[in-house]
Amino acid sequence: MARDPRYDVLFTPIKIGPKIAKNRFYQVPHCNAMGYTEHHGDVEHRRMKAEGGWGVISTEQCSIHPSSCCAPFAERRLWNDEHSTQLREWVDVMHEYGALAAVELVHNGVGMGNRKTKEYPLGPSNNTVHYNWDPIMGRQMDKADIREYRRWQVEASKRAVDVGFDLVYVYAAHDIALAQSFLSPHSNHRTDEYGGSVENRARIIGELLEDTKEAVGDKAAVVLRLAVDEMRGEDGIRWQEEGQAVVEMFSDLPDLWDVNISDWAEDSATSRFSDEGFQEPYVAFVKQHTDKPVVCVGRFTSPDTMVSQIERGITDMIGAARPSIADPFLPNKIEEGRNEDIRECIGCNICVAAENTASLFRCTQNPSAGEEWRRGWHPEKIAKKGSDNGVLIVGAGPAGLECARALGLRGYDVHLVEARDEVGGRVSFEASLPGLAAWGRVRDYRTGQIDKMKNVEIHTGTELSAQDILDYGAEVVVMATGSNWRRDGCAYTNTHAIPGCDGKRVYTPDDIMNGKKIEGPVIVFDDDHYYIGGVIAEKLRADGNEVTIVTPLMELSRWTENTLELVKIQSQILSLGIKLIKDHNIVSIGDNSIEIANVYHPATRENLSYQSLVLATSRIPNDALYQELAADPKKLEEAGINQLTRIGDVVAASTIQFAVYEGHRFAQELDGAALGDVPYKLEHVQLESAMAAAD
Ligand code: ADP
Ligand code: SF4
Repeated sequence: MARDPRYDVLFTPIKIGPKIAKNRFYQVPHCNAMGYTEHHGDVEHRRMKAEGGWGVISTEQCSIHPSSCCAPFAERRLWNDEHSTQLREWVDVMHEYGALAAVELVHNGVGMGNRKTKEYPLGPSNNTVHYNWDPIMGRQMDKADIREYRRWQVEASKRAVDVGFDLVYVYAAHDIALAQSFLSPHSNHRTDEYGGSVENRARIIGELLEDTKEAVGDKAAVVLRLAVDEMRGEDGIRWQEEGQAVVEMFSDLPDLWDVNISDWAEDSATSRFSDEGFQEPYVAFVKQHTDKPVVCVGRFTSPDTMVSQIERGITDMIGAARPSIADPFLPNKIEEGRNEDIRECIGCNICVAAENTASLFRCTQNPSAGEEWRRGWHPEKIAKKGSDNGVLIVGAGPAGLECARALGLRGYDVHLVEARDEVGGRVSFEASLPGLAAWGRVRDYRTGQIDKMKNVEIHTGTELSAQDILDYGAEVVVMATGSNWRRDGCAYTNTHAIPGCDGKRVYTPDDIMNGKKIEGPVIVFDDDHYYIGGVIAEKLRADGNEVTIVTPLMELSRWTENTLELVKIQSQILSLGIKLIKDHNIVSIGDNSIEIANVYHPATRENLSYQSLVLATSRIPNDALYQELAADPKKLEEAGINQLTRIGDVVAASTIQFAVYEGHRFAQELDGAALGDVPYKLEHVQLESAMAAAD
């Protein structure tokens, strides 16, 4: 199919300095937890986007000097020519597909603590370090330091051009860039010509732009990535003040403006706290003050929204990090008139958490993310089936749905059988909780794809017993029956049942999501530490109950620090009038009250009365059916079942992302060659001839 002419503007080439982007799809710089240590992984991840039609593809941040060290992260570097080898390979891959390659040169300043290079961080003033309260102060830069900073940017820009990059960045965003620290009244307390007035605080940005333009000449375009608002009110950069002043001052100096809001938690806000296009109120002014092209982000997945952004003069190019991760083929799908095939980002920030926890890259919607090189997974293509075996999948949660979709694509005959009247499993339950509606896209993308497959049938409202499964007639049986929230309160803090947990008015998140009506006042005990305790509390509060949350940790939903939601969650809970008791564990549960103890001083105890208590602690697999079947291999053989397996939460409960990944992995590997103890290729970090080493 051809694309809808309404979307033509998205495919109009655009001039960026001396370069021309083939369309308006711009993958803005984003990290992917791979960097220089997982070089091939990074290259192959970005190759998918080049193949998928993105006009511009950027690296993650790329440090210009050892005084800017972002350890524990292994992001790109261009400190000397040694670092050029890997990046040359990176650029060549993007060029193979006609994409422009952009490099986000960075000096982190006091954004990071220089943990590996052991250099003093550099700041405009005597600033503290922003990352993780590292106990080292930034050194206030003198004029010689500023000259050096400019020289490092020039040297790195020259290397970038030599490597073949088309776009070279000056970076002043995300609260991890030295140039932003100079601009912000929050961190710049200087009294010389680099401090005080906006003009003075912006001086370094102008100098870096001039220097970089001179360094790259007509071989590359120069991009300014600018946080136009730090969301700190008067204490920080405001779009109406510093943001507007900088755009007016340097209007046509950069070849392109890449604008956003700061810090990363604001720029990459989750769907729980922001909608598509959420940055528009802050960045809409930029185009009025420059003739140069502008790119902005806002978790754009809808082609109509994209066109509207361009036609209303908000932006010229559609910036995307997360939507390009969830669907590297988003541009091609619009081009080919296949909008319904777009795998929309759900805004969960599991990808961000991969970076923050130094895990291998991952995405809830796109199970191939991070696996492109080491397992050879492609987001759109998959090997044809390896046998004529029929497959029965029991349970249509995220694991079962993805397994059915991917097996269907391979050409297997698949029956996906679900006990409930609707598919989606935990995704459907959780998407009904406050702020999580977009998570339903995990289900909707897969049902949309399966609907088009003649070889995949979905049967709902059918709870299968072991005998039903034996009688079904499938050669391969995949159990994807999920997990249940525990009723005994066991989790991180309590590894034995909490006394009194069998009380009549003690509930689990499953009860609440199943629509159980409960009476307030309610206490929610959160020992899960991801999102569920908080969203259950919000739902019960919205139902009109008085709600108290008790958690043994210092913060509610502690793990959401990794998804950049921690601060927003604390604020939201308090602003909704939910009482938060931190640092406390439940000692015992009585009929009308619970006894809690301070985890750091257990003798400090108090009683809290309740009408209903919800234990949001941990989950156990719903695996009785699997165990029953696995216990009798003879019966399986007689029934013609040659493979019985389990995937997703029925093995061990985890994130939705992990269930999708496991469902996909089974589908990839069915009837494939046996994999060894190490089931994927290993990266060997080598700066020189990295590709050659892999051959
Ligand atoms: P996962 O995250 O691993 O996909 P979920 O808990 O989201 O797991 O989904 C499991 C699904 O399996 C649920 O929708 C549940 O209704 C379904 N299920 C559980 N037992 C059976 C059964 N015996 N027959 C059919 N479906 C089942
Ligand atoms: Fe989007 Fe979540 Fe995938 Fe990140 S992990 S790209 S937020 S769906």
